[in-house]
Amino acid sequence: MTVLVVATGNPGKLKEIQAYFSEGSGWELELKPPELDVEETGVTFLENACLKASQVALATGCWAIADDSGLAVDGLDGAPGVFSARYGTSDDDRIDRVLRELGDTTERRAQFICAIAVARPDGTIVVQEEGICPGEILQTRRGEGGFGYDPIFFVPEKNLTFAEMSPEMKHELSHRGRAFQRVMPQLEALLTNAND
Ligand code: IMP
Repeated sequence: MTVLVVATGNPGKLKEIQAYFSEGSGWELELKPPELDVEETGVTFLENACLKASQVALATGCWAIADDSGLAVDGLDGAPGVFSARYGTSDDDRIDRVLRELGDTTERRAQFICAIAVARPDGTIVVQEEGICPGEILQTRRGEGGFGYDPIFFVPEKNLTFAEMSPEMKHELSHRGRAFQRVMPQLEALLTNAND
């Protein structure tokens, strides 16, 4: 097994990422050391993912994977974007702010974006991918599941918000799911080459 350090201190996120790796993937996921903190200074999701993967790889001397994600609302010129986690003090507060700023505008299109980067132990980025899930911002919350902005993010194709979907459905069509569908074959190829 080859260790792949996940550039997060959040065990919930590690668990979520673990679900995209099949048993026998050959990769053993680990949380980053808690004292290692990388500031997200990038202006794009991809920049932040690369920054985190590269710095965690260099600091640990292991392969590292990082993701950065958020919500971009067309009617708010792409906000909250890379500030999605910092747009308020709680999930409720962040949702209220988006709804308040959008008001009753009819332009409700939005997308969730997830960027993923993988770095070699020397810090070189070897994989960078993005997954996008298009949708619309509702006027009010719907559904109890998920986290973050899920209750106001409506996916017309399924006629459901992220918060109304089963974890399996969200896992399949979310921005994170789509990004991981692109990353997994590349991680597999990296192991095959490394072991040749
Ligand atoms: P990060 O990628 O962990 O930095 O997440 C950034 C922020 O984007 C989170 O704190 C959430 O507010 C939001 N976010 C990212 N992915 C999702 C999602 O799948 N559902 C709802 N909110 C999300």
